[in-house]
Amino acid sequence: MKLDVEYLRHLSKDGFRVLTAVEMGMRNHEIVPSELISRIASLKHGGSGKVLNTLLEHKLLHHDSSKYDGYRLTYLGYDFLAIKTMVNRGVFAAVGRQIGVGKESDIFEVATEDGTVLAMKLHRLGRTSFRAVKSKRDYLRHRSSFNWLYLSRLAALKEFAFMKALVEHGFPVPSAVDCNRHCVVMSLVHGYPLVQVKQLQNPYMVFETILGLVIRLAEHGLIHCDFNEFNIMIDDDEKITMIDFPQMISVSHQNARMYFDRDVECIYKFFRKRFNLSFDENEVDCVDTNEGGPPQFYNIMNVSGFLDKDLEASGFTRKDQNDMEKLINRDAEKKPGSDLEGTEDEDDAGVEINEASLEDFDSLSFVSKAEFEHSSEEDPQSSKRLRRQ
Ligand code: ADP
Ligand code: MG
Repeated sequence: MKLDVEYLRHLSKDGFRVLTAVEMGMRNHEIVPSELISRIASLKHGGSGKVLNTLLEHKLLHHDSSKYDGYRLTYLGYDFLAIKTMVNRGVFAAVGRQIGVGKESDIFEVATEDGTVLAMKLHRLGRTSFRAVKSKRDYLRHRSSFNWLYLSRLAALKEFAFMKALVEHGFPVPSAVDCNRHCVVMSLVHGYPLVQVKQLQNPYMVFETILGLVIRLAEHGLIHCDFNEFNIMIDDDEKITMIDFPQMISVSHQNARMYFDRDVECIYKFFRKRFNLSFDENEVDCVDTNEGGPPQFYNIMNVSGFLDKDLEASGFTRKDQNDMEKLINRDAEKKPGSDLEGTEDEDDAGVEINEASLEDFDSLSFVSKAEFEHSSEEDPQSSKRLRRQ
């Protein structure tokens, strides 16, 4: 998805206020009635119609008048809210070129005021699954898009919490910088996804390092669940960094064994095919079995992991995890109108914009002083755009 941050610089304070009002309204409305948006935003100069039109024009909102006149946030609108929060917090000051398109995310370079380049991952749950089902199922047409926003927020929170915990336990993962809404900021990995690599100097060593990682994860009570050549980065010195954790599970999960085996098999398969590695029986044995005894994996399963304790400390609770699993499972059957956070039964009248959250807006210096030195071969326009004041 194209993320043109230029407009963010020109978004008026009222524009931001109305966007925030829509987000707040979405806590208990799939489509937020226009009248409610105006009430929450309570602009000094009356109704918010004009501002809504401008936001709509820039695709930050989606208009829906099928049941009543109302709006919901688009991913772009949600992006703006997250990016603005990050900028206000001083996490970064400029957004650069897109460096990755994942299955359900977009990754961009961002730069801090002092020019340090970081990576920003915007989660976009539902992008693939939604497209796949949309064409077939008409009843999904009015279904809550906020589900996807909410799920993306949980995915970001989970990834952030895992990243922090993994770094603390010495795993080679990017360092977690900050998290807001569906957005995670982390250190930039200087390398390429393994899938792009055609040749290695020490393929066996790299293979062993990678396999060692899956096993060490399991010893810590975790299974990656998407451990493959797309989620392993490698640099010129053949140093490995593992990325992409929203789908990780505990070894106590009922299908843990199957996921672990799948992760391991993926690595074997890739190295066999891409680098022509051959593995004799013994080498396979040392991973999967224990000298004719029970599979070693069951021993691994007995190790108590750090999952629960550390992750809760990082802000991703078991309730969040349960929510995520429940929502993903029931999503396809969800009836319109039964919104997620609406369970808290919030009163519309009580929803108010917190003035403090708007305070910094006037002084927001987005895409400003940072010397975004990184030049892009793929999109020279984007870095030019960044330098413009
Ligand atoms: P998804 O969950 O959508 O698969 P990933 O986290 O795997 O997303 O990221 C998609 C791509 O973005 C990766 O294959 C990689 O090329 C790039 N990427 C992700 N994180 C970083 C990072 N910290 N530094 C550099 N590139 C990254
Ligand atoms: Mg990935």
